[in-house]
Amino acid sequence: MPGEPQEDCLFCKIAEGHVPATIVRETKTTVAFQDINPQAPVHILVIPKAHYPNAAELATAAPELAADVLRETKEVADEQQLDSYRVVFNTGAGAGQTVFHAHAHVLGGRGMQWPPG
Ligand code: IMP
Repeated sequence: MPGEPQEDCLFCKIAEGHVPATIVRETKTTVAFQDINPQAPVHILVIPKAHYPNAAELATAAPELAADVLRETKEVADEQQLDSYRVVFNTGAGAGQTVFHAHAHVLGGRGMQWPPG
């Protein structure tokens, strides 16, 4: 069922507290934690606690929850005192998605190139 926890999902386990993570923010519906392999001085992931495999499915099935995630990226950026930052939702393996539980990357603390690789 959409939104139900998946047994084999790493980010469901982080959301449930069964896998440790450096959590920087938590709301009723979302968790934000440090990326284990940071690509910038600030690299924080924001996930919905409920399981959706990617941002597209989250946006379609649970738009209010998608808005919660997006709002949390702003709160993270504020807390990290980022004036400029990048929010990335890799969607699909071809775009670099490796964990199939929707998540926003909040990247900042250095200059960014465009186009991204
Ligand atoms: P994706 O490639 O867009 O799916 O992003 C997945 C992200 O999760 C990558 O940036 C990984 O470094 C990160 N990651 C994988 N395992 C963990 C973990 O256990 N804790 C925190 N971040 C993780």
